[in-house]
Order: sequence, then C-alpha cells, then structure tokens
Amino acid sequence: MPIRVLPAHLVDQIAAGEVIERPASVVKELVENAFDAGAQHIYIDIERGGLGLIRVRDDGCGIEPEELALAVLPHATSKIASSEDLVGIASFGFRGEALPSIGSVARLRLTSRRAGSELAHELSVDGGEHGVVKPAAHPVGTTVEVRDLFYNVPARRKFLRSESTEFGHILRQIERLALSMPAVGFELRREGRSVLQLPPALDAAAIGQRLDRILGDQFRGHALTLEGSEGGVLSLSGWLGLPTAARAQPDQQFWFVNGRAVRDRLLANAVRLGYRDVLYHGRHPSYLLYLSLDPRSVDVNAHPGKLELRFRESRAVHDAVFHRIERALAATQPGARHAAATRLQTGWPASMPPGDADAAQSPTQPATQWHADSVPLALSWPTAAPEGIPAAIAPSGAPLDSHHLQSLAIAEPQAPHPLGIAIAQLHGLYILAQNRDGLIIVDAHAAHERVLYEQLKRQYDAATPASQGLLEPLVVHAAEHEIEALLAEAGELTRLGFEVQRLAPSQLAVRRVPVLLAQADPAQLLAQLARELTTESGIHHLDGAAHRILGNIACRAAIRGQRALSPGEMDALLRQMEQTERASQCNHGRPTWMRLTLREIDQLFLRGR
Ligand code: ADP
Ligand code: MG
Repeated sequence: MPIRVLPAHLVDQIAAGEVIERPASVVKELVENAFDAGAQHIYIDIERGGLGLIRVRDDGCGIEPEELALAVLPHATSKIASSEDLVGIASFGFRGEALPSIGSVARLRLTSRRAGSELAHELSVDGGEHGVVKPAAHPVGTTVEVRDLFYNVPARRKFLRSESTEFGHILRQIERLALSMPAVGFELRREGRSVLQLPPALDAAAIGQRLDRILGDQFRGHALTLEGSEGGVLSLSGWLGLPTAARAQPDQQFWFVNGRAVRDRLLANAVRLGYRDVLYHGRHPSYLLYLSLDPRSVDVNAHPGKLELRFRESRAVHDAVFHRIERALAATQPGARHAAATRLQTGWPASMPPGDADAAQSPTQPATQWHADSVPLALSWPTAAPEGIPAAIAPSGAPLDSHHLQSLAIAEPQAPHPLGIAIAQLHGLYILAQNRDGLIIVDAHAAHERVLYEQLKRQYDAATPASQGLLEPLVVHAAEHEIEALLAEAGELTRLGFEVQRLAPSQLAVRRVPVLLAQADPAQLLAQLARELTTESGIHHLDGAAHRILGNIACRAAIRGQRALSPGEMDALLRQMEQTERASQCNHGRPTWMRLTLREIDQLFLRGR
C-alpha cells in the first residue's frame, strides 16, 4: 500500500482509543468535566451497559452557546492556555480530548445553559460529523448524551464484555469518583431505575455514610482514621484498614491525589512498606487515602489516563507517606481505640460502638484545594474509647482529654488493664483473662513473638543492646555453610548483643548473648537461625535482612505452645502487650487477642439482661 495521510475522522478515532476504552471511560470523562464545571449534583443514566445510552447531567457553570462548537473540537479546552499552565494543573481535564473523542466514536449531544441565560443550546456530533447549534430547553448546567458507543468502530466493540460486566465497570468508576468528591451528590439510574443515590456529603457524619454505602459498613469499623494536618507541604488523610482486617484481594485500595483517583506505583509502594511489619505476606490492606499537595509539585500529564503521577520530590513524598502510615499502624495495640477490631464471629454484626461518627473526621480535598502548610503528619486519636476499653493506655503522644479522664475515674475504679487479669491457660496455647467487660483470649505465642520482636527492634535501632557475658561460652554446632551464613550477618548479631567467634568450620562459640534472649537457649536459637538463613523458608516475610533476623529470633524465642505459664507470667505478658506498639497483631498480621463481652456471652445463652 502506498503511504497516505489518514482522513481526519480516522485520526480522531485512533486518538479516541487512548481515552475511551470502554463505556466506563466515557462516564469518567463526563463526570470529571462536571466536577471541573463546579457541579454540586450529577445525574447519570445508563442503558444497556452504556452501549445504548450514557447521559450525564450536571448543575455546573454551563457552556456559552458560541463555545459549544469549540467544546467538541480536538485540543480545545477552557482549562489551560499556555505551557506555563501545564505546571500546576488543578483541574481534572486539560487536554481537550474527551468530547471530540467521544463524538468520533458515538452519537453525542451536548446541551448546556449558562447561569443568567434565558435559553439553553444544543449541538450534536454523530460519528465525527458536527451538526449546528440550536436553541433547546435545559436548566442551568450541562447534559452530555452519548448513544450507540463504538457503533462505527467494530474493532473496539468486539473487545467489550457483556452489558452487565460493562455496567459493573461503570458502577465502580462512579463509586471511585464519588469517594474522590464527597461534597458532590450523585444519582445513578440504570434502564430508568434509580440504583445509587448519594446525597452531597458536607460533614463528617455524611461522609461516613457515603463510605459505608460504597465500601460496606464494616470498613470504617476496622480502620484507623488519619487526619490531615495543616502546616507543611503535604497533607495525608483518610482511613487505614487494620492489619487484622486485611483481605485476600487488593480490592479496597484507593488513592486520591488532589482529588484525582490514581494508581500510582510510588504511593502503592509507600503503603506496602508502611504495612510491612504488621501484615502477612500475600494479604492486602484496605485503605482510602487522600493526599493533597501543591499542584505545582506533581505532574499529572505523565500518563494517558492520568492514573500515574510524577512527583517533583518523589523521595520526600514516598518517605512522608510511608512514615506516616508506619507510625499510625504502630499504634495498633490493646487499649488503643481501634485495636479491638477482632470480635469473635458469633453471628452478630461486629459493629463499632455508638459514638463512632468521629471516624469520619472529614478528609477535605476538593481537587483545587491543597494545604501549603501541612506536614507534621500527626495521627489524631479518636475522642471516645471503645466500649469498655478505657483509653488509659493511649499511644504515646495521644491527647487524653478531660472527658477521658473523667470517664476513666468513674468507670474504672480498680481495673485499669484493657486486657484484664489472667484467669487460666487453655490447652497450653491461650491465655484467658477477665476484664471489666468480659473475657479476653490471647494467643500466647503470637503475642509474645510480637512483644519480643518490638523489643529487639528497639534495641537494634538504638544499637545499645543489653548484652550479658557468659562464664562458659556456648557452642553452636551446624553445617559449615550454615555457620558461614551466620557469620555473614555477624554485624547484625553484634548489634543485637551477641558475640560470636568461629571455633572450627562447623562450630561457633557464643560469648555474649542479649539479655532479652538469655532464657531462650541462645545456642539452639542461633543454630535454627543458621538453618533458616540458608533455606528460603516461607516464614520470611519481613523486608530487610535485619528485620528478618529479628523476626526469626523473636519467633524462635517466643514461648511455645504447650508450655504451662504461671499466673504471674501470664499477667506480665498481658501488661507488656498493652505497652507494645503493634501488639494487636503478631508478626504475620494475625490477631493476637480477641474479646467476648458479657453482653455477647449473654446473647449466646439467649439471656436477656
Ligand atoms: P478538557 O476537559 O480536557 O478541557 P473536554 O473535551 O472534556 O476537554 O471538554 C472540552 C471543554 O468543554 C472543556 O474545557 C469545558 O470548557 C467544556 N465542557 C465540557 N464539559 C462541560 C461541562 N459539563 N460543563 C461545562 N463545560 C464543559
Ligand atoms: Mg474533560
């Protein structure tokens, strides 16, 4: 075939492929245009999975009649004017691609009225053919109607799935958009029937309801609230799912940057790292996070779908997000308000106690708003303690307000321990304890493992291990390559408080041991560690050699099943858990304790109180 220049309509159709992949992409573009127009309400009609009809109506600013014809031309936009404007884009659109693209692959009708105008006007574009602007009837705002999507692009149509699958994509797209802009009301109709109604959410309680509607009412009950803070260059707010509520699928993970939904690798990685110490390999945390920062410090023009971003200070953003999340999750310990997320599954909803509205301390994030003054990313502590669990052991730095202190004084005359007092040990595995509200069940090994791990980490990080010399050196016997693997980590071992020296190819003398591990048969511990260092066993889930070694040691040194514990030992472990960061889940992300309140026990026995 000779070379030829393609006709304009074909060029447009090819370009449309970039933005309009399926009906849900049309919905995204049209709703974002409504956001940019300042709409407060958006009404969406879908027929036949979006292949028959997609209609989006808004009550935004509208389009001047003389600009209607421009709106549907390629590269025509009201949102930027010069290349300087490309730095610091605060609107969703800016490329002027959506309407012409849609017009080239469907039958499009644009109807709009500006505030103050008597009349509305409309314009149709049919497979790239522009009609004429005509008067029409329409309230202030804009309606874009898209019929017969891809009717003239059979290649694209073939790749679409069933109408119900496409509708599913549309619904999830709308949910994401609704999470990004809580203040905008949405109504979605499918074949004329209303299927989703989200009133504008203007306060924390309403935002909470929108979240419950979209993510299910379990989500907030199992999440920590992060509050954005003023001061600094970025602000992070939202909800972090508790590690114990992690899911098998990564299906509840949402990032919004200046209001825009993104799937950015850098941000995803920062979250992964933030959870690394509390989540078992292969589990996925739920989260809903809003980052706001100066639009000039992020390039949204780096990806055709604007899904990936380029941060000017990518390292700084990554680290700020990672540290904030890691700190927030460190506070998952018994007695911290949200720690008691794991209830026994006995058939009633694990709803959070009343007065939970504060969980929705609103992340505020209209796309165009950012906080120039936001860094010291402090986790805000909720104002109410969970039912019965006094906030006595609030995470360090948490404000205890006078209301707290009062309720503590009245309700807790003599039992200040969230995990109560040990009353028995079950099958050598579980500690049973009684607190004011009922029964606490603790997985002794898992809990002890976490307590030891956190202690070892602290000593390791401070590089001041409490170390104890041995009168008689211990001797570790292991295969030669195992001894070598251990010696390869000699620096880490010293930092932990060990002093080791090779005696023979397969023998190691141990002259000093960490005080923490003196009771735990250190020679055997090192022999096991040597074996694990040389085999890639599945329990290595922690990032970084040091943490892996510490994690392994903690697992080896923690009390084993079948070991009888004295009441004093059990109580000591409960008290340590209350003081230890992240103690509500073991090093693998499983819960370390659960509770069964008296009320729940009463329900089991059908006893009315
Ligand atoms: P972009 O959003 O990148 O500017 P679009 O093709 O999506 O490009 O829209 C072209 C122009 O049409 C926009 O810049 C805007 O001026 C106008 N427009 C589109 N949709 C609306 C709407 N719902 N309300 C008001 N103006 C709109
Ligand atoms: Mg647009």
